[in-house]
Amino acid sequence: MKDILIIGAGGVGSVVTHKCAMAGSFGKITLASRTVEKCDAIAASVKERTGVEVATAQVDADNVEATVALINEVKPFLVINVALPYQDLPIMDACLEAGVHYMDTANYEPPNEAKFEYHWQWAYQEKFEKAGLCALLGSGFDPGVTNVFTAWALKHHFDEIHYLDIVDVNGGDHGKAFATNFNPEINIREVTADCRHWQGGKFVETPAMSRSMQFTCPEGVGTYDIYRMYHEELESITKHIPTIRKAQFWMSFSQNYLKHLEVLQNVGMTSIQPVEYNGQEIIPLQFLKAVLPDPGDLGKTTQGKTCIGCIVRGVKDGQDKAIYVYNICDHEKCFEEVGSQAISYTTGVPTMIGAKMLTEGDWLKPGVWNMEQNDPDAFMDQLNLHGLPWTVVELPVGETGFED
Ligand code: NDP
Repeated sequence: MKDILIIGAGGVGSVVTHKCAMAGSFGKITLASRTVEKCDAIAASVKERTGVEVATAQVDADNVEATVALINEVKPFLVINVALPYQDLPIMDACLEAGVHYMDTANYEPPNEAKFEYHWQWAYQEKFEKAGLCALLGSGFDPGVTNVFTAWALKHHFDEIHYLDIVDVNGGDHGKAFATNFNPEINIREVTADCRHWQGGKFVETPAMSRSMQFTCPEGVGTYDIYRMYHEELESITKHIPTIRKAQFWMSFSQNYLKHLEVLQNVGMTSIQPVEYNGQEIIPLQFLKAVLPDPGDLGKTTQGKTCIGCIVRGVKDGQDKAIYVYNICDHEKCFEEVGSQAISYTTGVPTMIGAKMLTEGDWLKPGVWNMEQNDPDAFMDQLNLHGLPWTVVELPVGETGFED
């Protein structure tokens, strides 16, 4: 069994650490982050729930040398980056220098621009290949499982995929006036960015939140307003599955969430441009994060379910075909199991499975890889075993509710 180093002790880091300990598939687990007290609290919870010891350490992952020193001390086989997207490149650099494999759940973001693009990380392809090291990008739910669902649909249900609609519904209620389900800074950047969807061989830009529709989830989860927005897996999936004519990402938002967001945006609190305050430079969105509820603490109060999946349309044996592959996850069950709400859970479980795919060798190959570039079957099996069972249904062609 291989040793792992997890960097980032937030909502997702907590689930990854618990699930890695529960899986019994890893050697020594070390959890490091900027604030070591958060690592210690997670390690104590893991010990209490599973009996497994997790070592902890402090690291500022923006500092490549500090991360290299930690990697050299811990000597892991793999570094699991669940810090923030700003740390992706420094942690990739540290892994190259120390000679260990890398994985993450979100693409690199420059601190002062909201881009959600893969080119910075894809540019590491040759370096990782030459070093004989593997970097697995985006092993959360979306990106992550949504990429694997699409690859699995192509492998087992289609000769060609033509249309992809990824639908992320959070039917949960946390009882707060306003909160985000994961890191507020990254979440609000994502939601307020201009929308892009793939159509006719290029990305088409439209204003944020300008397109919406109603979506009824299966199994009684309910009917929700979903809004089209840009999400990073659209870039890699349309690159790697070039038969796709149109690909869109949709997410549910309540009217209450949108009302708060609109006001925050109008008063300038979601800006990522620095402003001077009392002789100090602050970034409004970072300040906002400091006053919003910590997504890691929402588990105690959140009720309801998430329903995330892919509606895939294309042709099989000359016939048009449509399928929907999805997972439904219950916030309260997640809290009972690992002390977190379902958004952190649905991200952290696929992270642990991605780590298994690398430490056990199935997906381990030199280079930088997105999820859909790997054989999806073993990953799909692991989802069923580790708390994120999925369902596939065939839909009547032409009645999916999504346009060509
Ligand atoms: P949190 O803000 O809860 O946690 C981030 C953690 O990273 C904190 O412990 C923070 O430390 C730590 N950190 C930040 N900067 C540094 C640094 N320079 N060095 C070391 N540690 C640092 O975020 P989440 O847990 O909600 O999200 C984690 C990641 O998961 C994000 O990249 C997010 O985009 C991604 N994500 C992916 C999803 C998917 O489905 N693919 C879904 C949800 C999230 P401190 O406590 O000191 O601030």
